[in-house]
Amino acid sequence: MKYISTRGRIDAIDFRRAVLMGLADDGGLIIPQSIPNVADRLEIWRKLSYPQLAFEVIRLFAADIPEADLRGLIDRTYGRAFPEDVVPVVRVGGLFVMELFHGPTLAFKDVALQLLGNLFEYILARRQGAMNILAATSGDTGSAAIYGVRGRRGIRIFVMHPLGAVSPIQERQMTAVLDDNVHNLAVQGSFDDCQNIMKSLAGDLEFKRKYNLGAVNSVNWARVLAQIVYYFRAALDACEAAGSKAAAVCVPTGNFGNVLAGWYARQMGAPISRLILATNCNDILARFFQTGQYSLGKVAQTLAPSMDIQVASNFERYLYYRAGSSPAALRALMDQFRKTGSLRVDSGGSGAVDPLFASAAADEQQILDAIRTTWRDHKYLLDPHSAVGVSVARRLAGGIDGPIVCLATAHPAKFPAAIRQATGEDLAHHPDIDRLMELPTRCTTVPNDAQKVRQFIVQKVASSR
Ligand SMILES: *Cc1c(COP(=O)(O)O)cnc(C)c1O
Repeated sequence: MKYISTRGRIDAIDFRRAVLMGLADDGGLIIPQSIPNVADRLEIWRKLSYPQLAFEVIRLFAADIPEADLRGLIDRTYGRAFPEDVVPVVRVGGLFVMELFHGPTLAFKDVALQLLGNLFEYILARRQGAMNILAATSGDTGSAAIYGVRGRRGIRIFVMHPLGAVSPIQERQMTAVLDDNVHNLAVQGSFDDCQNIMKSLAGDLEFKRKYNLGAVNSVNWARVLAQIVYYFRAALDACEAAGSKAAAVCVPTGNFGNVLAGWYARQMGAPISRLILATNCNDILARFFQTGQYSLGKVAQTLAPSMDIQVASNFERYLYYRAGSSPAALRALMDQFRKTGSLRVDSGGSGAVDPLFASAAADEQQILDAIRTTWRDHKYLLDPHSAVGVSVARRLAGGIDGPIVCLATAHPAKFPAAIRQATGEDLAHHPDIDRLMELPTRCTTVPNDAQKVRQFIVQKVASSR
């Protein structure tokens, strides 16, 4: 399998190169040159363990990693850091809930970032190379990325978060990791400022090459790939349990990263009838699938902060296919969006923008109601992100045939304030979180200035050679 860019201006590259490149050098997103169809092997896949299933899916896209090596990588990833079934499914009332939050930082991003850390280490060791990862986070990505690469040979990670603007638990999850290769930077600015610093440094191709800058945000293809696996698991398991031919999967989404993996799984032949896209009141994506209009609004802070996003970076991959897999047409759409803050996709005749997608948003009250009623009726505690999904799934269930699997993206103990607000009780605990506040931390405060961040990286690289 070779990889190309949505913008059409890089030469085809292999998987390993795609993983290291992160964002394509032409500013586009890296995608596989074709999407394999696996409909003929679903009966076999149904019976596989999670690591076996992951191997079958991932090897289709990673032909340049020898199979024995890939098996080892995957077993290491999903053996140690996760429970045996990796992503357990529970029944909650009439819904299935797939718990994606049993990795080291208790959020779904671990499923992909644990694999990405192993992939980086493997690829670098064979090139005798080293890399520097630069990341900007509003909370969850930073800690999951740090846990993915802590203590790994050949990798340093620099994570910027907005000073004082992430939750105390999120801050501790990042800064209480003291491995030598982990550097936390508290930027005197907003999350957008952190992202702008990252874009400015990663956009300096000379600096990117010299320092081997890598990306761990959800534009990295390996993250999407790792996520495709659990869509197969979700759909196959729900179909089996419900005696159904296909299942709907409901996904709380912000950056379109998670649900995009569901779209690829469906293209590959996974028995997915619908993808239910659930947003909080930052609803640019929900509005798109209702109207065909993708237009920028203001970012509002919500109870589900990891979805407080307006520009969904992974949406470009979906748009590429919608634009007839034409880089020129995609570039025109992206240009229009950059200039006007808005773009339009025609539904091509009557009807829905994309019949595969159903979508809706959950406002703050609906999030709290979903947490409260699910606890009251089923004694099951949802975190506020997962509650966005459950709220939307319940509302849309009437129009959906077959079982619905809701993806639960974080452990409720990461968001105790929302749980207290919803239930009036202090119900959300996890021993790893409870322990955090006592651990020592390390973090450097820096001004909102790309030059200063660059200097910090240059210095750390020089002093740890
Ligand atoms: C990152 C995150 C999301 C959103 O995922 P996307 O890939 O951006 O759609 C949802 N829930 C939690 C808990 C997250 O950390």
